[in-house]
Amino acid sequence: MDTVLLTDSEADLLRAAELIKNGSIVGIPTETVYGLGADAGNEAAVRAVFAAKGRPADNPLIVHLADFSQAAEFTSAIPETAKKLAERFCPGPLTMVLPKNDRIPMVTSGGLDTVGIRVPSHRVMHRIIELSGCPIAAPSANTSGYPSPTTAQHVMRDMNGRIAAVVDGGQSEFGVESTVISFDGEDAVRILRPGAVTREMLLEVCGTVTIDPAILHEVEAGAKVASPGMKYKHYSPKADIIMVEGSIEGFTELVGENRGDGVYALVFDGDGELFPYRHLTYGADSSQQAHLLFQRLRELDELGAEKVYVRAPSPEGMGLAVYNRLIRAAGFEVIRV
Ligand code: AMP
Ligand code: MG
Repeated sequence: MDTVLLTDSEADLLRAAELIKNGSIVGIPTETVYGLGADAGNEAAVRAVFAAKGRPADNPLIVHLADFSQAAEFTSAIPETAKKLAERFCPGPLTMVLPKNDRIPMVTSGGLDTVGIRVPSHRVMHRIIELSGCPIAAPSANTSGYPSPTTAQHVMRDMNGRIAAVVDGGQSEFGVESTVISFDGEDAVRILRPGAVTREMLLEVCGTVTIDPAILHEVEAGAKVASPGMKYKHYSPKADIIMVEGSIEGFTELVGENRGDGVYALVFDGDGELFPYRHLTYGADSSQQAHLLFQRLRELDELGAEKVYVRAPSPEGMGLAVYNRLIRAAGFEVIRV
């Protein structure tokens, strides 16, 4: 099966929606990253999504809806806090974990009795949900473990021949996956995965916002985790990633001591003139770094990088999302200079 590259014209979105209705898988642009969309209620289609990615069966898929009001059709209870958060952040890059009902098959939820619900703001994803009339299960459209795709070409590289089509909707705006939260009690939420909806933004609506420890620290083998994705190696290019915290001076010295064939650095914009070794840059602030991180990790593989020293942003605001992806890409190897 050759994968068809579709445009974002209405006719092509209709084609994409028909494919999903008929049980096929389509790569779809969203404001976070590209997703692999399938009908969330079609068990065979969902199994094919797991197979296309090589994703472990216990890692749940997020279900995407056109409007938060539809959440009642797929869940058994919606806390008041969730409704308040939906008013503020839906549509947008926020996924809320809610108790599911039996319209969401167990394969979709990775065997859990909860489901992550998101209402994407991207015009293309939104239109495909509307036209298909399906709740769309969509994990990131990368091979499991590899950096998430932020362009249609990235999806083609990972999925050509494995899925029916990819819709080209340009480059993803945020560049990192959605913020995932669960509900800890009245007026209290827990961040299971950081994203563009930051802790500070959630605190504008919610009294208590806890950051799950697994966001910044490695979970022990066999430990029970709130979010199954936390257990797995993630976001990792072929190159060995080494995350470095501290000043540009210390970073420059470290890379100088370790320079050699296949050694690259990924630095901030503005580090450029001071930094004499082979490198790419990935933005001046944490939003730009989120936007470019996965693309740069893929580019470094194409350049044949074997070892990459990466300057890490401080884990605050949107920086927490970038830090979380990097520390996983680095297999929790962090050097402080
Ligand atoms: P991805 O599909 O690649 O964006 O990854 C989705 C991630 O969201 C998973 O790896 C989980 O960590 C998290 N997630 C999705 N559904 C749930 C759920 N029901 N409970 C907890 N975490 C979830
Ligand atoms: Mg993913």
